[in-house]
Amino acid sequence: MTNTALRPSPISPTVDFYAEGAQHGFLRLPYSRDDSAWGSVMIPIAIIKNGEGPCALITGGNHGDEYEGPIALLDLARSLRAEDVSGTLIIVPAMNYPAFLAGTRTSPIDKGNMNRSFPGAPDGTVTQKIADYFQRHLLPLADIVLDFHSGGKTLDFLPFCAAHILPDKQLERKSFELVEAFGAPYSMKMREIDAVGMYDTAAEEMGKVFITTELGGGGTSTAKTAGIAKRGLGNVLIKAGLLRGEIERQETIWLDMPDGNCFIFAEDAGLLEPLLDLGESVRKGDVVARIYPLGRTGVDRLEVRAKMDGVLAARHFPGLVKAGDCVSVLATIEPG
Ligand code: ZN
Repeated sequence: MTNTALRPSPISPTVDFYAEGAQHGFLRLPYSRDDSAWGSVMIPIAIIKNGEGPCALITGGNHGDEYEGPIALLDLARSLRAEDVSGTLIIVPAMNYPAFLAGTRTSPIDKGNMNRSFPGAPDGTVTQKIADYFQRHLLPLADIVLDFHSGGKTLDFLPFCAAHILPDKQLERKSFELVEAFGAPYSMKMREIDAVGMYDTAAEEMGKVFITTELGGGGTSTAKTAGIAKRGLGNVLIKAGLLRGEIERQETIWLDMPDGNCFIFAEDAGLLEPLLDLGESVRKGDVVARIYPLGRTGVDRLEVRAKMDGVLAARHFPGLVKAGDCVSVLATIEPG
C-alpha cells in the first residue's frame, strides 16, 4: 500500500459536523464521466446535534441491495428534531450510494464492495474514496457505530443484531450491551469469513463500540424486518444516552458462530433443494440441502451436510447455486 495518509480526501461535505441543529445535506464526491464532465456523486447525510453528549455514526446501504437499514435511517432523519437528541447523530442511509441506486451489492462504477474496501484511498476508485472518508473523517468523530446489513439478493438471515468477539474485552462488553439493547429476535456473537478490509474492523481497530445487523435478505425487506430495524435503532440510541425514553425490551435468543465449521459452501453448481428453513435445528452430519445437476436427468444429486450441531442462521437465497457459494450458515444457541 502506498502512503496516502496525508493526501486530502476529494469529498466535501455540505454539512457542518460541529453546528448545532438538524442539517440535511450531502457528501459530495467529484466524479467526472461521459454524461457529466464535472459531475459528482451526492451521498445523502444528516447531522443532528444538540449540545454535549456521545456521537453515534449510523449507516445503511454499505451493500446496495440491503434495505432495512436505509428504511430505518431515512425515517429517523425525517422525524427527529434536534431537541430530541443529547449529543450528535451522523446518519448516512446509503454508504455505497451508487450501489444503492443500482440495487446491487457492489458499486456499478468500479464494482467496489464497500465492506472489503477499508481503509480506502483518497486517490483510489469511487468506492475507495468513500471508504477513506469514513476512515479518516467520520469514524474518528464517533463514540458508537451502528452499521445495518441484511442478506442482500443472495442470502437470507434470521433477524439478528451482532458484535464481534474482540481482544479488548471492555470494548467487547460495551458492544454486546448495545446488541442486547437493540433487542432483535436473535443476537449473534459474530465470526467473519474474512475480516480484512471491513468497515467493522476499521471501527473496532479505532476503539469504537461497533455493532451490526443481519435482518433478513433476498434483496427486499418485510414489515417484520423493517419494524425490527426501526425499534432496534431507537433502543440503541436510548441505551447510548442520545435519545430519551424507555427501551422496548424484547426476548432475544443468543447465537454463537463458534468456528469455521458454521459455514457450508457448495462444491458444485446446480438446483438447490433446502431441507431446512431458517431457525430450524440440525445435528452434525445431517443433510441440510441437496444440489441437483442441471443438465440431465438420472444423475446423482449432491448432499450438503452440517459440520456441527446448530440452527440454520442464514441460507443461500436464489434457487440455483454455483460452486463456492455459501449454502448455509449454522449457529449454536447460547444457554440464556
Ligand atoms: Zn451487507
